[in-house]
Amino acid sequence: MTNDTWGQARETLQTTIGKNNYQTWIEPLTFVSCEGGVAEFGVQTSFQGDWVSRNFGDEILRQFDKLGEPVDRLKFSVQSNRPRMAAATKPSPTPEKFLKKSAQITNAPDETILGAPLDKRFTFDSFVVGKPNELAHAAARRVAEGGPVSFNPLFLYGGVGLGKTHLMHAIAWELQSRSPELRVVYLSAEQFMYRFIQALRDKQMMDFKSLFRSVDVLMVDDVQFIAGKDSTQDEFFHTFNALIDQQKQIIISADRAPGEIDGLEERIRSRLQWGLVVDLHPTDYELRLGILQQKVELYRSQYQELKISDGVLEFLAHRISNNVRVLEGALTRLFALASLVGREITLEMAQESLADILRQSDRKVTMDEIMRKTCDYYNVRMSDLLSPKRSRNIARPRQMAMWLAKQLTQRSYPEIGKRFGNRDHTTVIHAVRKIDELKAQDSQVAEDAEMLRRMLEA
Ligand code: ADP
Ligand code: MG
Repeated sequence: MTNDTWGQARETLQTTIGKNNYQTWIEPLTFVSCEGGVAEFGVQTSFQGDWVSRNFGDEILRQFDKLGEPVDRLKFSVQSNRPRMAAATKPSPTPEKFLKKSAQITNAPDETILGAPLDKRFTFDSFVVGKPNELAHAAARRVAEGGPVSFNPLFLYGGVGLGKTHLMHAIAWELQSRSPELRVVYLSAEQFMYRFIQALRDKQMMDFKSLFRSVDVLMVDDVQFIAGKDSTQDEFFHTFNALIDQQKQIIISADRAPGEIDGLEERIRSRLQWGLVVDLHPTDYELRLGILQQKVELYRSQYQELKISDGVLEFLAHRISNNVRVLEGALTRLFALASLVGREITLEMAQESLADILRQSDRKVTMDEIMRKTCDYYNVRMSDLLSPKRSRNIARPRQMAMWLAKQLTQRSYPEIGKRFGNRDHTTVIHAVRKIDELKAQDSQVAEDAEMLRRMLEA
């Protein structure tokens, strides 16, 4: 294979993985060689290679395949001839704690047929405890101690990315290390259904039943998935009861409280509430900051020195949403950035490289706030903003407010028009264009837009 083929593959990757990903991860790769089915690329840090491999490896292979290139493996080697990195790079061990794919290990062989692999990074040690999750954490700890079953089931619930799966894996790891003889099985409700259907199809229901009834601890993640899937629910219910009867510990998670899961049979719903139901609350600032600090420490201990200006982590904790996964994503991008630029990450750099994430997780700005702030800023009356008046000193603020509404809210053109004194959507489109144009020509307008945007986002 030649650099040319890689060039072609890169072309397509731009669209398949998105421009942002492409620029951050694919562009910096240097093609080294392709021999014996192994395509080798130069990277600047092992982290970069691991990340590309984990997230885009399959896609890259697919592109090669499409181009008729017989590549079955990708190899990433750190190019040491980059002086600015050389001093900072520690010999990198496998980045187990960061990278899911390489971090996954399988359970004891006979459990693998039942359960899903556990993520090595998800332990109690790496779980940061704060007000929003302290109860869930304490309950998980209690269950992980083993011993007589005190609450059964333990039902953990909370929004996406708040740590449910992490806690479940942590329980499994802890139980396994304390009592290796225990049969601890973790799987998602989806996998449970899949196994169930497979057993039905292969006429192995007896095996299925006896296998699930012989475990000591059963953990089923994201149980809301089986809502509305009647025969799976039924089987789950029987498994559940059989295990509870035998005093075996069950741990369930869901994205909602049992009572709020639609399509769940009443008998299951009430069973799920028998034990202890605890929720993970949305993260708060302190917890987010704690998580960020911990991840930075981990990165430093595993990869390389990392210099981040004061205030950057605080800024992220302040601005990024509840979902810890999003927070981690932002941080990962900063790590990549740091390894590419090879110097301290400033607040400005962070803001720039995370612009899209920041925008997405911005707290919701309302139309009302936009109109009020714009009126204050230009010193015009709200009634004028909504009136048919078209004099420049009123029309311009109105256009600016429409522009801001388009930038900062999810509202459509017609919706925005409606709020501005029942104007047509074409008026809004025109206003947005006008401000975009003016911003490019007139520094005062650009400054106004920036000021207002900042005020609204603060
Ligand atoms: P859920 O299952 O609730 O959707 P996960 O358990 O998958 O969320 O967590 C999403 C990501 O955030 C994981 O990488 C997890 O390690 C991390 N995470 C969530 N909460 C914490 C926490 N309190 N401390 C450290 N990492 C956390
Ligand atoms: Mg989960």
